[in-house]
Amino acid sequence: MSTVKAWAAPSATEPLEPTTIERRDVGARDVLIEIAYAGICHSDIHTVRGEWGEVPYPLVVGHEIVGTVTEVGSDVSRHQVGDRVGVGCMVGSCRECENCKAGEEQYCLKGNIGTYASKDEDGTITQGGYSTHVVVAEDFVLSVPEAIPYEAAAPLLCAGITTYSPLHHWNAGPGKKVAVVGLGGLGHMAVKIAHAMGAEVTVLSQSLKKQEDGLRLGADHYYATSDESTFKDLRNTFDLIVNTVSAELDLDAYLKLLRLNGTMVNVGAPPQALPLHVFTLFDQRRSFAGSGIGGIRETQEMLDFCAEHGIAPETELISADQVNEAYERVLASDVRYRFVIDASTI
Ligand SMILES: [Zn+2]
Ligand SMILES: [Zn+2]
Repeated sequence: MSTVKAWAAPSATEPLEPTTIERRDVGARDVLIEIAYAGICHSDIHTVRGEWGEVPYPLVVGHEIVGTVTEVGSDVSRHQVGDRVGVGCMVGSCRECENCKAGEEQYCLKGNIGTYASKDEDGTITQGGYSTHVVVAEDFVLSVPEAIPYEAAAPLLCAGITTYSPLHHWNAGPGKKVAVVGLGGLGHMAVKIAHAMGAEVTVLSQSLKKQEDGLRLGADHYYATSDESTFKDLRNTFDLIVNTVSAELDLDAYLKLLRLNGTMVNVGAPPQALPLHVFTLFDQRRSFAGSGIGGIRETQEMLDFCAEHGIAPETELISADQVNEAYERVLASDVRYRFVIDASTI
């Protein structure tokens, strides 16, 4: 084992603080990564504050990790020392169930192993990316193309794949009208990716405050959902709506914006149950769906797609001692559009 530096949450109510944690020895199929950058995802905040269930404290979060391979195990074939690599929301799965075999490890029937706060194969609790180093099984480590700016690559590992996967699955592309609800960390990536896929993209945001940004990021249209006429004007319009908002919203009002065979997919995670009228689905044979991150193969495909299309998240680089302040700013939606921690300051 090795002792490495990290920033951890000591409890649900205390700020994150510098500490050290143990990383396992590099096994035959493992790689050791010297972390360069770690993105701050809203899930990190929900988790450390105990809002998504019990948490094993002290806990290091962070599941948007990029860095350089500094050591590989004897059986490692996918990665070499010096490679620029990434780790996203999971670091393991059973590898044997039908979903794992289909490359959909995120839907492992035995449950995937989360990058933090999960029980690892050796029984220890996984610790995330707000740290200087991490040891990960090579088949859960992605190659990060050089064409993607290093610090901007980190948020692709969660925000990028979480939006790419449903856009890809529901065939966003030329001739398709795609709406993105919410222009935050996830929403701004959904706009960029859907635009690059060739779809006609509309942002549905509470106000027109970020309209200029939205259009610059690749949206063709921008509407305020606080304006009642939006829901009248856009009725029966979209093939796909990607909802990135975790707050409660009127599902029927949004579903009615779908045209024949349209799908609304939630990637935002509202903690409460949301009601909807089945009659809204009967009309226009609409579907309501959910989608969680993406498989390893699809995550690599997303990284390669972003490199090819020159897509990268908009980031604000911070040092580790700014992380608590950054959390408050994320909660206040005061970030354009993702904080990234410079791991050299950890
Ligand atoms: Zn995340
Ligand atoms: Zn499995």
